[in-house]
Amino acid sequence: MMNDKKCTAIVLAAGQGKRMQSKVQKQFLELGGKPVLYYALDCFQRSPLIRDIVLVTSEDMTGYCEQIFIGKYGFDKIRRIVPGGKERYDSVYCGLLACEDTEYVFIHDGARPFITGEILERGLEGAMETGACVVGMPSKDTVKLSDEEGCVKETPDRQKVWIVQTPQVFSYPLIRSAYEKLQASGMDGITDDAMVAEKAAGCRVRFAEGSYSNIKITTPEDLAVAEALLAWNRTREG
Ligand code: C5P
Repeated sequence: MMNDKKCTAIVLAAGQGKRMQSKVQKQFLELGGKPVLYYALDCFQRSPLIRDIVLVTSEDMTGYCEQIFIGKYGFDKIRRIVPGGKERYDSVYCGLLACEDTEYVFIHDGARPFITGEILERGLEGAMETGACVVGMPSKDTVKLSDEEGCVKETPDRQKVWIVQTPQVFSYPLIRSAYEKLQASGMDGITDDAMVAEKAAGCRVRFAEGSYSNIKITTPEDLAVAEALLAWNRTREG
């Protein structure tokens, strides 16, 4: 894919990861002998689509990240390492404020190690059409919505149900002004960036295909699945 756009990856790694039941935040746990966060940064570093990377971490991890990811692994696209905020959307906003002279942003969970160059291409293609694109996959399972009493309320048509992943890719001015608008009116219930674009910018958000391997490491068993996926990817790469 030819790309003459200025693109920045905002990689989020400021979560405390309470669901992991571990002292170490999930994005810094070891996977295949390296921190989980290494893998997403490596993909952005290698992708010709990405000009620079803003890494968002908790305040006490900025020094470690500089030492490991810039020093040891030589990811020289990391231009800034900035502290995040209390909720994910606060961290995204910190990342957006740290971007310099950019046209598109790839907002990505540092706890998703298995992105690929092809996924980044599909995400950017979608964002160039409407200004906003989320990667995801059609749900393998039937999804049901529940009512307040814990009974089934509705069963949406499975063909139309997507499980949403990251990166989510946006025109930078669009997502920045959408975040600013929502900051003013309250961010309650915001769980992903596409919701911000839908709500505040009234933007049509495109879907692009991610992959079933693009899991987010959230609970302890995810790490076992991730080790297996890493081994599987390595055999396929030969
Ligand atoms: O908590 P959740 O699994 O939704 O987090 C997704 C990503 O967002 C993780 O990579 C996590 O480190 C990041 N995050 C963040 N700041 C927060 C909460 C989550 O950067 N306050």
